[in-house]
Amino acid sequence: MIDYEYIKPRNLEEVFSYLASFGKRAVLIAGGTDVMVNIRNKKLAPEALISLRGLRELAYIRKDEGAYHIGALTTHRMLKASSLVQEELSALYEGASQLGSVQIRNVATLGGNICNAAPSADTAAPLLVLDAVAVLRGPEGIRKVPLTEFFIGPSQTVRAWNEVLIEFEIPAEIGRFGSAYHKLSRRKAMDLPILGVAVSLSMRGEIIREARIALSVAAPTPIRARQAEGYLKGKPVQEEVFAEAGELAAQEASPRDSLRGQAWYRREMIETFVPRMFKKALDRVKNR
Ligand SMILES: Cc1cc2nc3c(=O)[nH]c(=O)nc-3n(C[C@H](O)[C@H](O)[C@H](O)COP(=O)(O)OP(=O)(O)OC[C@H]3O[C@@H](n4cnc5c(N)ncnc54)[C@H](O)[C@@H]3O)c2cc1C
Repeated sequence: MIDYEYIKPRNLEEVFSYLASFGKRAVLIAGGTDVMVNIRNKKLAPEALISLRGLRELAYIRKDEGAYHIGALTTHRMLKASSLVQEELSALYEGASQLGSVQIRNVATLGGNICNAAPSADTAAPLLVLDAVAVLRGPEGIRKVPLTEFFIGPSQTVRAWNEVLIEFEIPAEIGRFGSAYHKLSRRKAMDLPILGVAVSLSMRGEIIREARIALSVAAPTPIRARQAEGYLKGKPVQEEVFAEAGELAAQEASPRDSLRGQAWYRREMIETFVPRMFKKALDRVKNR
């Protein structure tokens, strides 16, 4: 029988207090769309579920002078409904819009997608190309971790058991970049990606000022393709340049064979979709 205590704290202080008393025998739950599946599959057997759903103040999308701030409890539905996200953080809009189904997006949160740390998480590659920083709060205070350092293995992150993810910060200058995300999957809805490709870039005239590439389901964790990014910096916008970046990114990836797709196929799709996403992102660059 599945048996656990369900606790619904009213504020963060209460969350920390329950975490302190249950220790690692408790699991935090937000939308529950990963946690409940894991409990049913017997991958998790917590003594207590500490719900974050009472913390509605952690569901927001804001922009100030220095950064975009997206609360950890923000649902994918909220991201999809936000014109700010659609216009200025397009890759994240595309990731959130294609995650699960309407019903899943209504309850599932951005924080849950990232803390669950699946190599296939649809918002991971978008947040990586947007230079997102995870803001964690624990009993000792706040610490900020660039998303590039957040994932340490499949389902593993640097978050300590007594820390809560509060929000994501994205530098305001990223709003001037163009960005795009492609989810390669067999079906249009309710399917995890065979591969996820996100890119972002900023331009100086016809020269690429900066470029980012992130891949999911291409390694044990979502990754940035640093060599391909370095190659693109200072290059002119040409088809051959984006094609070369795609080849470099495919070499940097370490995909595996799985039921959803073979490693060789994933590499070929990286070569295909990196240039395609750059063309899309290029149209979205502001202030060229
Ligand atoms: C039918 C179905 C379809 C799906 N389709 C997709 C898909 O297409 N793409 C995709 O990427 N995912 C998909 N998922 C997975 C899931 O919906 C997402 O990962 C979702 O974003 C998880 O968010 P949640 O709020 O439900 O997380 P939860 O299940 O509540 O939590 C997930 C993990 O994060 C931790 N956690 C949550 N919030 C915090 C926080 N603020 N601080 C610290 N830890 C926290 C929890 O302890 C848990 O370990 C699907 C799931 C289902 C059931």
